[in-house]
Amino acid sequence: MCKVCNLTHQFKSNLAAAYVCPACQSILYKGVSYTQNKPEEAFRIFEDLTPFKLGSQLNFEEINYTFIGRYQFVLTNGNRNLWFLHANDEKVLYLLDQPGGYVICKKNPHTLKKSDYDFTLGRAFEFPETNKLFYLSSKQRNTMTRMEGEVFDIQSYNMSFDACDFANDKQFVFGLFFGRMNNDIYVGQRYHYSELKLLNMRKADG
Ligand SMILES: [Zn+2]
Repeated sequence: MCKVCNLTHQFKSNLAAAYVCPACQSILYKGVSYTQNKPEEAFRIFEDLTPFKLGSQLNFEEINYTFIGRYQFVLTNGNRNLWFLHANDEKVLYLLDQPGGYVICKKNPHTLKKSDYDFTLGRAFEFPETNKLFYLSSKQRNTMTRMEGEVFDIQSYNMSFDACDFANDKQFVFGLFFGRMNNDIYVGQRYHYSELKLLNMRKADG
């Protein structure tokens, strides 16, 4: 339960490190109770007319996933959402806004080599377990991350970092580069909104 505004929440994902109360932005770290101090607050989500909300559902490959959290990146060219979708702790997906559609992706446990950290637009990259080359199509700076719901990393995602898009004809990679050594890479495929099997969407009136 959020001690600030009394909103109840039970964690759905074991991967989540914290819950950002969508009503008051308090950051409630898992297993930490705030009896004395006022909790830290995340930046409030910017109204961006996304069709999704916490509690929306996606049926993907015959499995029902629930939208349980999101990061909203404030990038050089505008806001972009990365939603965290949960079916159970083994079945987790991420849904990323992408111009003209969405990317349904999984987090890739591998990282780029340190020597690959100099990014030039158009340059070809190889990622482990993907057997095609990817081309760097965009590199933007993240200046701030807004959050709501269950999130798995507050500190790294709250810092300034480079966000890169890598694409080929079939797949899409979204890479977050926090520094020379650590990065998070999401690998997936693009879909048009009409291709997604969705439930419990946000209503136009909010
Ligand atoms: Zn609250």
